[in-house]
Amino acid sequence: MSVFEHPEFDRHEAIHFFDDPGTGLRAIIAVHSTALGPAAGGCRRWQYASDEEALTDVLRLSRGMTYKNAVAGLPFGGGKSVILASDNRPASAEQFREFGRRVQSLDGAYITAEDVGISVDDMRIVREETEHVSGLPQEGKSAGGDPSPWTAFGVFLGIRAAMKKLHGDESFAGRKVAVQGVGHVGQELCRLLSEAGAELLVADVNRENLRRVAASMPVTEVAPTDILFADVDVLAPCALGNVLNSETIPRIRAKIVAGAANNQLSRETDGEQLTAREILYAPDYVINAGGVISVAREYLGDSSEDEVLAEVSRIPDRLEEIFNEAAKTGRPTNVIADELARRIVEESVSDQRRIA
Ligand code: NAD
Repeated sequence: MSVFEHPEFDRHEAIHFFDDPGTGLRAIIAVHSTALGPAAGGCRRWQYASDEEALTDVLRLSRGMTYKNAVAGLPFGGGKSVILASDNRPASAEQFREFGRRVQSLDGAYITAEDVGISVDDMRIVREETEHVSGLPQEGKSAGGDPSPWTAFGVFLGIRAAMKKLHGDESFAGRKVAVQGVGHVGQELCRLLSEAGAELLVADVNRENLRRVAASMPVTEVAPTDILFADVDVLAPCALGNVLNSETIPRIRAKIVAGAANNQLSRETDGEQLTAREILYAPDYVINAGGVISVAREYLGDSSEDEVLAEVSRIPDRLEEIFNEAAKTGRPTNVIADELARRIVEESVSDQRRIA
């Protein structure tokens, strides 16, 4: 299939493919839009079943970043990168350095950070080769560092906003939340929910991550195959995307779906199924923007931690607007969010044209 005809192509400004036999780095960097600023979005390292699957993932994620940055009010466009992991191309410092050189070769059009499968230490190595990287530990009280706790905090606030919309009450007492994936974000989200009094059901395919969560708070472990269909108030997908589709949606029992994972819906039309089942869905890139807000402020070097906290705390307001519009019009929340994002980008493009 031609890249230009790919169903997720959506007029990406640029897609860069890298294959470096020396280090074994095989990567794709997708730049969806630079209309609002340099394309910012993390790097994912994952063992994909095929190159096609990697391309689809990076294209969807990169467009999602355009929308996420726009709705979060950040002066950045959208991009994303994936490193194609493989048993015969093991991760190494030299591979991350090569990735850094490739990011540098784009001259600031793309800014990278951590995503699934990438740690702060990996990004430190990338930083040796490029300045266009964020999500690194900071000195003192300035914004920055691991974005995951900010993502988790934003998701926590977003779940509360969804509960308020649905029940008129945001208390977690007596509420059950199912968390799929207790990695960097999921574990911190569990901590916040547990402290707020929620009863937690958790699942992960990684035993070590499960053990860590179970050792630090009361949780009930559920099989990864069952967690989406648990009898709970809230389902928080915090693993990978494509979990909401025509197979899963009819079986979901939660009345709220609100989690950190990117691209939770398999297709845009899956939002209609959620609406039909009266499930309140918090659009993923709106609720999970906490991390990118921190990463963006770190990159710009213009904010303190307190300012990031204030900005992340506005996530529930944006969700409330989307929930209210959905309730008023009967339309799916994801469609309303996408329209809002596209409007912000288009307005900026016409402003730029006017100035030019
Ligand atoms: P992570 O890799 O630290 O955690 C993901 C966890 O999900 C891992 O423990 C993994 O074992 C588990 N998992 C994978 N497949 C699973 C399955 N089928 N069932 C149950 N568990 C499964 O990643 P993370 O940084 O915590 O990010 C989680 C999600 O949130 C990702 O989709 C990511 O793109 C998204 N996200 C993360 C951030 C951030 O700041 N880290 C920001 C925005 C969005």
